[in-house]
Amino acid sequence: MKHLDEYRDPSQVKALLREIEELVSQPWVIMEICGGQTHSFLRHGLDALLPPQIELVHGPGCPVCVTPLEQIDKAITIASRPEVIFTSYGDMLRVPGSGTDLFSVRAKGGDVRVVYSPLEAVQLAEAHPDKEVVFFAIGFETTAPANAMAVLLAQRKGIRNFSMITAQVRVPPAMEAILQAKSCRVQGFLAAGHVCAVMGFHEYLPLAEKYQVPIVVTGFEPIDLLQGLYATIKQLEGGQAQVENQYQRAVSEQGNQAAQQSIQTAFRAVDRKWRGIGTIPKSGWGLRPELAAFDAELKFEVQDLISQESPLCIAGEILQGLKKTWECPAFGKKCTPQNPLGAPMVSSEGACAAYYRYHR
Ligand code: SF4
Repeated sequence: MKHLDEYRDPSQVKALLREIEELVSQPWVIMEICGGQTHSFLRHGLDALLPPQIELVHGPGCPVCVTPLEQIDKAITIASRPEVIFTSYGDMLRVPGSGTDLFSVRAKGGDVRVVYSPLEAVQLAEAHPDKEVVFFAIGFETTAPANAMAVLLAQRKGIRNFSMITAQVRVPPAMEAILQAKSCRVQGFLAAGHVCAVMGFHEYLPLAEKYQVPIVVTGFEPIDLLQGLYATIKQLEGGQAQVENQYQRAVSEQGNQAAQQSIQTAFRAVDRKWRGIGTIPKSGWGLRPELAAFDAELKFEVQDLISQESPLCIAGEILQGLKKTWECPAFGKKCTPQNPLGAPMVSSEGACAAYYRYHR
């Protein structure tokens, strides 16, 4: 397949693996930020082909996994109301809340629908003026522009029966929280290429300098990942700590300015709780005060809801690179994709789901 095969060429993969093996002289712990990168490493079997000195740890870049339990319980509460059409991306429907999930709400007669874009939710609101249409706005910087455009469109058209639960998160504050932790083992990062396609990589420059850590913006195909790893290891072996851009076909330093402008118009940086990790300062986007009429938590008065995590789930430690999925006593036993205890076993980007699926 054009534009894909060239990044999966086996001879180039072999050559890169050989170069990495020749380069590495000591153990290094490297975190790939994005769950899509985790799945790609495992799907293509690359993790098993790396020299034993390279330890990959899996970062928090799975939006479904880090959406806090409270937000899921709020979604379930709102979706259960008879006047509501609740809309969400498909992954979120199976994520367990404290007692149930959105699929179960639908099975009991709730109007819960999967959409592929927040703009579909705005269209639903226009088509059903007698209903309240709520969109579950999760994701990193990649989904934020579309979510911003949806709420700005609803405002421009005067659509008052549209609102959103906002659980948008930002990557750089999460990386900083990982680096600040006393238990941090991460020595280098593969930054998420698609996030940087929107935001650029200028936000990573102060992080690399302050924490003396190499950060390589990396894509998702086998050759991308191995080139990203090679560049990270080369910096580590040479005592360097810089930001490099492996994903030049999609990423520039300043990113997509129009998309960033939409985000800034609709959202402001807020402290955000990450599931299993805790609150990270300025790590999320919340609706600006002038858009409060579109805030579903205020509209349905669920902002004070508090929830309790399953004591078995160690997802927070996994998402910070402190533990591996197989160290969770519930992995593959009490927790499976059919009966998940935590979000990383549900999401298509979740580390637990990747290890379960690819039998690691
Ligand atoms: S295997 Fe299940 S319970 Fe264990 S950390 Fe992963 S999602 Fe949580």
